[in-house]
Amino acid sequence: MLIIGSHVGFKKDSQLLGSLEEALSYGANTFMFYTGAPQNTMRYPIDTELTKKAQALIKENNIDYSKVIVHAPYIVNLANNNDPEKYQFSINFLKEEVKRCEALGIKYLVLHPGSHVGLGIDVGIKNIINALNQVLENSEVTILLETMAGKGSEIGSNFKEIKKIITGIKNKQRIGVCLDTCHLNDAGYNVADFDQLLTYFDEIIGLNYVKCIHINDSKNPQDSHKDRHENIGYGTIGFDNLIKIIYNPKLESIPKILETPYIGTNPPYKDEINMIKNKKFDQNMKERLQKQV
Ligand code: FE
Ligand code: FE
Ligand code: ZN
Repeated sequence: MLIIGSHVGFKKDSQLLGSLEEALSYGANTFMFYTGAPQNTMRYPIDTELTKKAQALIKENNIDYSKVIVHAPYIVNLANNNDPEKYQFSINFLKEEVKRCEALGIKYLVLHPGSHVGLGIDVGIKNIINALNQVLENSEVTILLETMAGKGSEIGSNFKEIKKIITGIKNKQRIGVCLDTCHLNDAGYNVADFDQLLTYFDEIIGLNYVKCIHINDSKNPQDSHKDRHENIGYGTIGFDNLIKIIYNPKLESIPKILETPYIGTNPPYKDEINMIKNKKFDQNMKERLQKQV
């Protein structure tokens, strides 16, 4: 069965219930959210009542809650320890984020491995491993390392770097990978032949580590190291290639999450999920949503 959704909001007053309602309005059967704003670390406590209400509704709607994803804010950087205080802040924040996920009953937390900012890849990887081993020690949550586009000094734009991190993690049960089609393309991988890419991934890391896949088109060509997401079918990857990835039998049980850009002030997810379900590209979507107020 296709498990498809998008990233959705998470607001102080509605929390998981609001996120679920947004996802349902898109016709999704899964979703991903940040437990606050993606770009900052301001976080509110998790409301138990709202969580219970949402979990009941999730069941009612036949959503497999084990496939609902949380994404850590992208300013958490575990790779650089030039400023020991900042490094420790990132570790502590992530520990708190794991606790929030546990309070929400969430199983998977997506994380950008980090940027070494001049320290070099090897030191960066060492820092990530050291941090994650502290965070994962008694964790009930599995952290998914996201494959990155390789912008600046980002670590994790190739499978061998991800493999090195995983090798250093003590609690192997609590580490996994999140693929991102835009990032893979921008990092230099050929996503048009995804079967071959998955075979290669399996050789280097092991397909059993993949627990989530972000479905995005890219504004830039393969190997551009840019990381600018495009709406489904409007970018350099193209609709047919994305459909092949989404319906790849090896990824059937893996939740697919859209992180494509809004069109004006309108979310594209309902339309994109429709396109994906119908396997038919809608070339008028952008124009239509642009006009919608
Ligand atoms: Fe991400
Ligand atoms: Fe992503
Ligand atoms: Zn991205």
